[in-house]
Amino acid sequence: METNTAAAHAATGPAIVRTVAELRARVTGWRRTGDRIAMVPTMGALHDGHLSLVRIGFERAERVVVSIFVNPTQFAPHEDFQSYPRTEVRDMELLELLGTDLVFAPSAAEMYPPGFATRIETAGPALGLESDTRPHFFGGVATVVSKLLIAANPDLAIFGEKDYQQLAVVRRMARDLGLPVEIVAAPTVREPDGLAMSSRNAYLSPEERDIAPVLHDVLMQTAAALRGGVAPDQALDDGRRAILAAGFRALDYLDLRDAQTLEPVPDGSASGRPLRLLVAAWLGRTRLIDNCAV
Ligand code: AMP
Repeated sequence: METNTAAAHAATGPAIVRTVAELRARVTGWRRTGDRIAMVPTMGALHDGHLSLVRIGFERAERVVVSIFVNPTQFAPHEDFQSYPRTEVRDMELLELLGTDLVFAPSAAEMYPPGFATRIETAGPALGLESDTRPHFFGGVATVVSKLLIAANPDLAIFGEKDYQQLAVVRRMARDLGLPVEIVAAPTVREPDGLAMSSRNAYLSPEERDIAPVLHDVLMQTAAALRGGVAPDQALDDGRRAILAAGFRALDYLDLRDAQTLEPVPDGSASGRPLRLLVAAWLGRTRLIDNCAV
C-alpha cells in the first residue's frame, strides 16, 4: 500500500502550493475520502533527518504534507536568516522519492500579511536553554507552527527530538491552545560518527566537521557518568570542559533537565523522573545543538 502510494506519486512529483487557500482545498478533499493526514513542518535544506519524519508520517497516515518555510520571526536580526541554506529544487526531488503528497512553501507575505500583529507567548518548557541566548526564538516557532497547523489541520504533526526543547514547546502549545492534532516525536538521525544531522552542518569547514561529533561523544559520556552515580555538577563540569578542550569556540549550555517539563533538576538523578541532557555550542560561526536521554 505504502509502496504503491510512493510509486504513484514518483511519476508526477509532489504538488507544491504557496497559499493557505490552496493547502486547505487539497487537505479538505483528502479528508472527505477519509484519509488521515500527517504534517512535517521544515525550513527546507532537507537531509535524512527530515526524510525520516516523512517516513514516519506515511507509517501513520495516508497523506503527508511537508511545509518548507524559513520562518523570519524565529531569527534575530544578527542570526543566519539571510544565509540559511535554501535548496527547493533538490528538496522537491527528495520528497518526490518518498511519495510526499503535497509541499506547502508559502512566501513570508502569505504567512505574515501586512499589519501582522499577533504572536504567541511561550513559557514552561520554553524557559531557559535556547531562550537564554535566543529569547525571540520560541515565540516565533510557536507562532508559525500554530499557523501551519491551523492552515493544514492535520491529524498528526511530526517533530524531531533533535530539537528537543522545540518539541516540548510545540507539545505544550498544542495542548494549551486545544489544537486537534497529535504531536509525534521522531528520534534523531545521525551521521555515522554520531553528529546529529542538521541543515546548519553545511556551514562547517572540514576541520570543524572533524571536531563536531565531540558534541555527541560528550553527551554519551556525561549521560554514562550520571547513570554511574557521578554528581550532576561534576559530570556537567567535566562535559563542559571536554567540549571547549575539543575546539568549540563557546558553550551556550550543557544542562540536565526534566525530560518532560524541561525544568531544572538541581538534585539530578535523585528526582526519579526521566532526565534529558541538552547542549548548544559554537564551532567557529556555527551553532550546533544536540541532546540525549539519561
Ligand atoms: P528544521 O528544518 O531544522 O526546522 O527541522 C524540521 C524538523 O526536522 C524539526 O522537527 C526537526 O527537529 C527535525 N529534524 C532536524 N534534524 C533532524 C535529525 N537529525 N533527526 C531527526 N529530526 C530532525
